[in-house]
Amino acid sequence: MDFILQGHEINLKGANRGFFTTRLRANLERMLEGTGSKVGMRGMGVIVTTPDDAAADVRRRLERALGVQTIVAGQRVAPDAEAIAPVALAMVASQPGASFALDVKRPDKALALSSHDVAVYVGHYIEEKLGLPVDLRHPERLCTIVLSRKGALVSRAPELGPGGMPAGTAGRLLGLLSAGFDSPVAAYRLIRRGARVMLIHFYGTPLAGNASSVGPAEDMARALTRHQLHTRLYLCPFEPVQRAVIAATPSAYRVLIYRRMMLRIASALADKIFAHGLVTGDSLAQVASQTSLNLEAVSAATRLPIYRPLIGDDKVAIQAEARRIGTFDISAAASTGATDDCCSAFMPRTPALASSVGELDDAEREFDGAPLIVSSLSAIATRRYRLRGDTVELV
Ligand code: ATP
Ligand code: MG
Repeated sequence: MDFILQGHEINLKGANRGFFTTRLRANLERMLEGTGSKVGMRGMGVIVTTPDDAAADVRRRLERALGVQTIVAGQRVAPDAEAIAPVALAMVASQPGASFALDVKRPDKALALSSHDVAVYVGHYIEEKLGLPVDLRHPERLCTIVLSRKGALVSRAPELGPGGMPAGTAGRLLGLLSAGFDSPVAAYRLIRRGARVMLIHFYGTPLAGNASSVGPAEDMARALTRHQLHTRLYLCPFEPVQRAVIAATPSAYRVLIYRRMMLRIASALADKIFAHGLVTGDSLAQVASQTSLNLEAVSAATRLPIYRPLIGDDKVAIQAEARRIGTFDISAAASTGATDDCCSAFMPRTPALASSVGELDDAEREFDGAPLIVSSLSAIATRRYRLRGDTVELV
């Protein structure tokens, strides 16, 4: 089976197109390792040639091939109606819908076989085998047959790929990752645009009987590695910071000051690893720390751009996306399994809804964050993940 992959955005790239296609091909080679597939070029698109018994597996992996907007599955057979019929049948059978149509083309006019004859023969064959009616106006299943002397190409209707840009083409960012639903989806949004999103997770000591959030954070990093192929997860202990914040700042501002400290530590790390922005899962008004005023007051702690791709999204939409990208179950298990990251243990009773930059600066007057940033950085443990074929390896 051949899969012809098109990236519409890549095709608009003019002189830089080669850079994106080269990366896409390298990514595909890595993702498809072990399937016996070959990756090459066909016109503007990339063609993946796959042994028939691996076709379903390859098609499933292509769901994660960022940069691919459309996928056309096709098979080459001898240019005669009897050879085409069973292949076309399989193409129609693998699609949903109550009717079908064949679109037969013969660009090679020297071929004796007429497209009408092929359409009639193959159409009857499929009608008989599947008991499905032909509907030329609004077919729900489509099979395209292109005839030439070299062979016939029998394909399914174009299907949608994940879109976006090939992984690893848009620079490096650092994502703040909790065990919740939002932050992995936020990281994915920028991964989908080609950024390599490294992850930092702050963890505390769980309350007695509760699980640590480190396990879910590691699972999350693995799930995101399936899309971006390489991930680094930085695990940073946060309890010393929380104790210092509790000792030296008013309780209503605690969560906001935790957030400021997370941003400061993340920014210091970003400088070290050459990441040029931070990513968070904030969504406007989701919780008290995410009112527009509080977001302003918290953001003042860093000069780096903060990407908040979910800012206008509802929880329902975020969770639906989490299902598609494979992080939903990890977040759901973490939320029902009494997992403590750093914040649940030290929540104030009434968090401030509207603070200003000045108010927070004021609340931090007795608090010295600088030495805590240094000690936090040196306490970070690093995990490196890499995708090879269908498995995520710890390297
Ligand atoms: P999420 O937003 O990922 O569902 P959450 O709802 O528990 O997790 P929020 O209180 O909404 O977290 O925090 C807002 C953002 O702050 C998160 O999306 C994430 O980017 C960052 N953040 C929160 N807690 C942590 C943590 N323990 N480690 C790293 N980043 C965190
Ligand atoms: Mg959230």
